[in-house]
Amino acid sequence: MDQNQQTSKTRQPILVSACLLGLPTRYDGKTKTSQAVADFLKRENLIPVPVCPEQLAGMTTPREKTFFHCGDGCDVLAGTGTVVSETGKIMNEIFRHGAAMALQIAQLSGCKRALLKERSPSCGVHQIYLGEQATDGMGVTAALLASRGLNVISEEDLPL
Ligand code: SF4
Repeated sequence: MDQNQQTSKTRQPILVSACLLGLPTRYDGKTKTSQAVADFLKRENLIPVPVCPEQLAGMTTPREKTFFHCGDGCDVLAGTGTVVSETGKIMNEIFRHGAAMALQIAQLSGCKRALLKERSPSCGVHQIYLGEQATDGMGVTAALLASRGLNVISEEDLPL
């Protein structure tokens, strides 16, 4: 076994919100590049698997801003919550689809952990926006990944 094979065997994959890695996937076409994320990946010798659930679901970039009208991602998965666009379109189905795609990529690539962007309606781990108010809750993708046993980590939980 050569050194490259040995190194790649010991490195673990981790699902990461694409915008945190510098990809311009956000609703406004911008990134949320995080030095704390880059440092963590390097320190832990992890292989990042970038996903943007909203792009995976087929949404355009830029796209309308979205937020929860009631409940959070767990409630959207259970059929009792609602995520809406700023022009009032109900987005539950497309958000569930993006979450399912992200889960599929996590499973195919062997990710046991996911490092996600806080307060996103897809990726939020501890908080989401209910209307314009930041409140406790999970995004739809974070909720689905957690329900399937992945360890979901907020970028805000990493040391600076
Ligand atoms: Fe980033 Fe997640 Fe929003 Fe995509 S859905 S832009 S990965 S926070």
